[in-house]
Amino acid sequence: MKTLEIAVIPGDGIGKEVVPEALRVLDAIADIHEGLKFNYTHYPWSSEYYVEHGTMMPENGLELIKGSNAIFLGAVGDPNLVPDHVSLGGLLLRIRREFEQVINVRPAKQLRGMVSPLSNPKNFDILIVRENSEGEYSSSGGRVHNGIDEIVVQNAVFTKRGVSRVMEYGFEIAGKRNGHLTSATKSNGIAHSMPFWDEVFNELSAGYPDIKTRSEHIDALSAFFITRPETLDVVVASNLFGDILSDLGAAIMGSIGIAPAANVNLNGKYPSMFEPVHGSAPDIYGKGIANPIGQIWTAKMMLDHLGEPEMGAIVLEAIERTLEANIKTGDIGGSSTTSEVTDAIIAAMKEQI
Ligand code: ATP
Ligand code: MG
Repeated sequence: MKTLEIAVIPGDGIGKEVVPEALRVLDAIADIHEGLKFNYTHYPWSSEYYVEHGTMMPENGLELIKGSNAIFLGAVGDPNLVPDHVSLGGLLLRIRREFEQVINVRPAKQLRGMVSPLSNPKNFDILIVRENSEGEYSSSGGRVHNGIDEIVVQNAVFTKRGVSRVMEYGFEIAGKRNGHLTSATKSNGIAHSMPFWDEVFNELSAGYPDIKTRSEHIDALSAFFITRPETLDVVVASNLFGDILSDLGAAIMGSIGIAPAANVNLNGKYPSMFEPVHGSAPDIYGKGIANPIGQIWTAKMMLDHLGEPEMGAIVLEAIERTLEANIKTGDIGGSSTTSEVTDAIIAAMKEQI
């Protein structure tokens, strides 16, 4: 029996509604796969926890979840209770940093049954691999006043190690998909970091002769997401560019409510963390109408990561069958409730065995 230890953090808002739905899906997977079992440990770390305890998680919080096979997270942030920088910084960003989750992986895929806002929807299936630990999001820089004007300097920090590891991950994963890797650059406008980025990309590509490579400037690449998304396979990007492209990816899929994501640890010392792209959506919390597909697809990514890609495929196929049957929540034009969508997905999983 393969038993997977999962640290479950529903967090805030609709995280508390969609995480239990995704766990129902994982339980159905454990029913289908006799050799597989999930052991969940639930942690109530959230903005409410902060109001009670003055911190987002207990002092030994990271120790508690460090030994798990994966962390399954809903959403963090309830600006009515705790400022976002405190809640996100004290939980999400802390886990990402301390557990060296240096890569963020986000699929943007045209699902069967989904209507894309693209005027000419094509059959796109893109995987965005974003650097998650350095680059443009740096605290290096500052403000000065030279007596005439106010001057602000914001440094971006790129290390050879950081750039290489995200690119290598991109090459490896492209090899398992359609063998095509696109690098997001801007070396025609940014003088130091992006030429370095290109240099490392070209250097590494020599080691992957079977992967077709392409470099595109971020402005043109953003346009290609809209005009020719079907020509893209895996896209590797810096922290800032990857952030923007992954929101664009979620948008062309049709709703932020279906977009999944993974924060990947590469060195095996700590668990990876799986959380959907959407936030806690306080505007719809408590109504039973949140789309559970983002969290359920995120569970599929966790299954793939934990060595169960066949089970992951069953989940994604069931999501598409449910969308094709038009069982949808309000954000994607339907009128089904959160749990009705999950019920339909679980039924469609059972159909496949
Ligand atoms: P946070 O501060 O936690 O990021 P937010 O409201 O700023 O929350 P999101 O939670 O991503 O950002 O929500 C953006 C919009 O998308 C909101 O109007 C929300 O209702 C909608 N939304 C997000 N997730 C879902 C979902 N799973 N189902 C339906 N609508 C969603
Ligand atoms: Mg938000």
